[in-house]
Amino acid sequence: MIVLDQCTHCGNNIPLSAERCPHCALPGIFPNVRAAERVEEREALNKRYQESLQRAASRSYEQVAKDFETALLDSQAVIARSLLEADRLVSSDKELYATYYEKIEGGIRLPNGDKWDPLREVAEGALFPFYKKKVRYAALSLDGCGLSNYGECFLVLQNHMIAHRASVFEENCVMFMEKRKILMSEANKLPAGYRATWGERVKVCVSKLVDKLGANTKRDTFPGILLREGKTSEDDSFVEVHIWGPMTARTLERVIVNRLKSRADRVIAAALRERLKKVDVTIHMRAEVA
Ligand SMILES: [Zn+2]
Repeated sequence: MIVLDQCTHCGNNIPLSAERCPHCALPGIFPNVRAAERVEEREALNKRYQESLQRAASRSYEQVAKDFETALLDSQAVIARSLLEADRLVSSDKELYATYYEKIEGGIRLPNGDKWDPLREVAEGALFPFYKKKVRYAALSLDGCGLSNYGECFLVLQNHMIAHRASVFEENCVMFMEKRKILMSEANKLPAGYRATWGERVKVCVSKLVDKLGANTKRDTFPGILLREGKTSEDDSFVEVHIWGPMTARTLERVIVNRLKSRADRVIAAALRERLKKVDVTIHMRAEVA
């Protein structure tokens, strides 16, 4: 097991996957954040980042790349979910946003049962050894809009509620492994340079997307360059946010309702609006009933 940190209390080593010191139980730094802080990860990412800026300079759109980077400093994590799930989350301070695995183990949902189940077991096990059950997923966004393939309601998270426990990753981690044909036997040595702490998230975005920019790229197209929806979730293009630990309605900054498909949806959205008022979260309706 890779040893990264020494415990500040007892001086013993804390394994990378541990959430607290196994020797004296002092709480540790979130393991996904520690993984992104590893020297080899940071060096590999810095190399990609510098090379991407050099490409932009050699093609005479360095300023556009810098503008894109500046815009990304304000990027936020957005979770797309159904109206019903959003309404359930904000209905009480006792409601939590659970992970896929927690829901299955808690007996409140079944696995999807598709080809992605075994693939996500491997991909998430490789990225989050022994703590995948604690990680929530979001997409990085510049305009609050998320991936509607996962639901019509976009939950925009407050940066200060997640910055200390979030890391970002190049893309959907399952698709990352599939596209690069990473074998199960190589799952313990994923290529470095594709993840970052929240504070360095712009480097992942610029490294990944600089070739999508050009001298004539307008600022108002930046949100669509960072996050592009496909016909299905397999075709989505986005930077994935990994957030360790629980969330409640208090974690939210605002909610965007992207689509209302029926009159029943309008009723739920009205209830959601009332509940959000109580927790001081704003709601924005992008569309009325279709
Ligand atoms: Zn200790």
